[in-house]
Amino acid sequence: METEQNQLIEFLEVLIKRCNGKLSHTVYRKPIHTDRYLHASSNHHPSQKRGIITTLTERARRICDPQHLEAELDDLKEACQSNGYRISDIDKSMRPRTASRQDPGEQLTFASAYLQTLRSAKDKRDLLSAAGVYRIPCTCGKVYVGTTKRSVATRIKEHQRSCRLGQTDKLAVAEHALSEGDHNILFGEARLLAPTSGYHARLVREAIEIHKHTNNFNRKVETLQLKQIWNPILRNTRTAPEEIPLNDGH
Ligand SMILES: [Zn+2]
Repeated sequence: METEQNQLIEFLEVLIKRCNGKLSHTVYRKPIHTDRYLHASSNHHPSQKRGIITTLTERARRICDPQHLEAELDDLKEACQSNGYRISDIDKSMRPRTASRQDPGEQLTFASAYLQTLRSAKDKRDLLSAAGVYRIPCTCGKVYVGTTKRSVATRIKEHQRSCRLGQTDKLAVAEHALSEGDHNILFGEARLLAPTSGYHARLVREAIEIHKHTNNFNRKVETLQLKQIWNPILRNTRTAPEEIPLNDGH
């Protein structure tokens, strides 16, 4: 239980003040709060940076009563400036949203040649030049999951070659391509599932992907058998064959 001190008590992000028998409210910040937000020089998208100022402004308008709003907005402006934002940008982001909707002349148009950006590892998915775990689909709906320490593109060329030469004993893909039924291996649809380096990491990741792709035509003897300790994690990761997108871009 908390009790008021100096006629003040905080509740979540609201600071409540008791004054002449009335309660007023403003934004509460913990004493350890340092006014540090995403810095203006960070390589995040400008909309994310504007969004922080907008969100903080909206919180102030939501929480503060009229007698505290101005002081809170002034503090906010100062905090944004100390995080590197220009006063003109801060003012634009702090403008009430409803006002800009009512007045189309006030609407802000933003155009920028934006080159700096944070990349996620997912962007590497289409780059078959990387090493890692990959997937090759077949027209029959099954897939082959493989791994290589060289580039996936190089490895796929080997699969194609072994199919051409009918080396079914050498590679599972060739064996499947020449097995009974109508099988066209879709080498053009091959995808890198995970850029992974390191022998053990690759084998484990391959085993996980094989487990996930229940429609695989891998040879069991050729892959690592995952220890039982993985079971609780893997239980929910199986992907039904029809859910696997062949062109899953990003
Ligand atoms: Zn097939």
